[in-house]
Amino acid sequence: MDNTQTIITNNAKETQKLGEELAAYIIKGRKEGTVVPHIVCLYGELGAGKTVFTQGFAKGLGLTSRLVSPTFIIVRRYDINLCVQYLYHVDLYRLHKIEDIEALSLVELFKDQHAIVVVEWAERLGRLLPRKRIDVRWEAVVDDTRTITISYER
Ligand code: ADP
Ligand code: MG
Repeated sequence: MDNTQTIITNNAKETQKLGEELAAYIIKGRKEGTVVPHIVCLYGELGAGKTVFTQGFAKGLGLTSRLVSPTFIIVRRYDINLCVQYLYHVDLYRLHKIEDIEALSLVELFKDQHAIVVVEWAERLGRLLPRKRIDVRWEAVVDDTRTITISYER
């Protein structure tokens, strides 16, 4: 994967596949000892496909159980026990105030090298946005077509 890559998907399955591929890329990086961020930040409107992407990502990490949107509980943890111990799926949709987001202690999660963290509505993180991260941005949502850019600083 290049530093920045733009992909167009035409259905949910393709977006899920993209999530799976990103997970595979992270696992490969870890195995080879290259530094790949373990925080994945998703930015896109409601219904863009952030949760669909995360479902594929979790599958790529080896999760066999169903990943459900954590919209109401904000943070959901899954046992992975593959290259990392846990996957944390965070959905900030319902939180608008930075104080409420700070109260989640996400910074502690971000520091956890045994975890991979996916954050939906990552723009809400404000000053908590970690520097080392992979950004996944929905540039355009038209009918079933999604234009998605994945990027990170090496
Ligand atoms: P978000 O988490 O961004 O609010 P979801 O992943 O929950 O969005 O929902 C995305 C919806 O859009 C799903 O109903 C999915 O089937 C539909 N969809 C249609 N085309 C696509 C696509 N190309 N990629 C992802 N989802 C798509
Ligand atoms: Mg969602």
